[in-house]
Amino acid sequence: MAQIRIENVRKEFGAFTAVQSSTFTIEDGEFFMLLGPSGCGKTTTLRMMAGLELPTSGEIFIDGEEVGMKPARQRDIAFVFQMFALYPHLNVGKNISYPLISQGMAKLEAKKKVHEIAEILGITDILDKRVGGLSGGDRQRVALGRAIVRDPKAFFMDEPLGALDAEFREHMSEELRALHNRMNATTVYVTHDQLEAMQMGDKIVVMNHGVVEQFGAPQDIYDWPATKFVAQFIGSPPMNFLDFDASVSEGSTAVTLESASIEVPETREGASGAITLGVRPEHLSLDDSAAYRGRITATEYLGTTQIVTLDTANGELKVRMSSEEDARVGDQTGITFDPRTISLFNSDTGQALR
Ligand code: ATP
Repeated sequence: MAQIRIENVRKEFGAFTAVQSSTFTIEDGEFFMLLGPSGCGKTTTLRMMAGLELPTSGEIFIDGEEVGMKPARQRDIAFVFQMFALYPHLNVGKNISYPLISQGMAKLEAKKKVHEIAEILGITDILDKRVGGLSGGDRQRVALGRAIVRDPKAFFMDEPLGALDAEFREHMSEELRALHNRMNATTVYVTHDQLEAMQMGDKIVVMNHGVVEQFGAPQDIYDWPATKFVAQFIGSPPMNFLDFDASVSEGSTAVTLESASIEVPETREGASGAITLGVRPEHLSLDDSAAYRGRITATEYLGTTQIVTLDTANGELKVRMSSEEDARVGDQTGITFDPRTISLFNSDTGQALR
């Protein structure tokens, strides 16, 4: 098991900066997600931790030891790639024991270890089968078996479930998480899927254009996005944004939307000018007596909940509410905000003000 720390790590490819100076810590035993859109630098960050890419500057520590310039094989980690490369002509047992045998472990000892791992993964009954004829799920389990059999300090996974269809993907992500709970090995996992990151991660780093936008537990990131980018990237449908001119003061701020005044508590920073108010769809409700008004333009039925879209003086708003509540396209209605759940951002910098 291992603690991994990245300190001011930066990566340039020629004139292009793929990762801006980044600092964060992955605690021992954590399931840690590197999340962000395509090209944001998450794979490059993972490859630097693994020793497959050298940082341009900065330091990488594994259990307190600086390893930034050390090659991958000296870092005692296991990399699980998206395309699991198994040996099709060997059986399952031999595929899993391969790393042990090539390290020089005695055959009998390796066999015992393979049985332990097969037990954990629930694949003892297929140990003698050739991998060529296995289902996708079993192949993934074998590949995982091969990665974990060495007892590495940490696992690095780059979109390991990316090639799977939605249903199977969900099943495998549950299995991976359960496996992690049993083994408790530090796992660093790259994904562009915010839902996957929220469901699986103990901690998440959100990256955009090579910059770490936020780092924290899924619920903190969801509830208190540090930037407008994070607010938009996490959650489906994403956070609503309303732009207006206002003056925010430190402590608490009265935000006036049309004829409605909302007292927003605990504002951290003052700012004036272009302000963006952010509010999650589930933190809004419809109330005919409310002063802030909108017109319903669409409803989307999702089973127990529905998403209602409204047109307001400040733009479009989406509200998530019970399907049992009435909402008809064309109706005018009032909208209420819970001030405790409101985010405020400086519209120019995108930084959160509370
Ligand atoms: P994806 O999910 O698409 O893989 P990512 O967030 O993992 O995206 P990276 O693969 O880390 O992003 O790439 C970040 C940026 O660095 C991209 O613009 C990519 O084109 C660039 N890049 C990555 N590797 C190299 C390289 N070896 N040489 C030049 N540019 C590179």
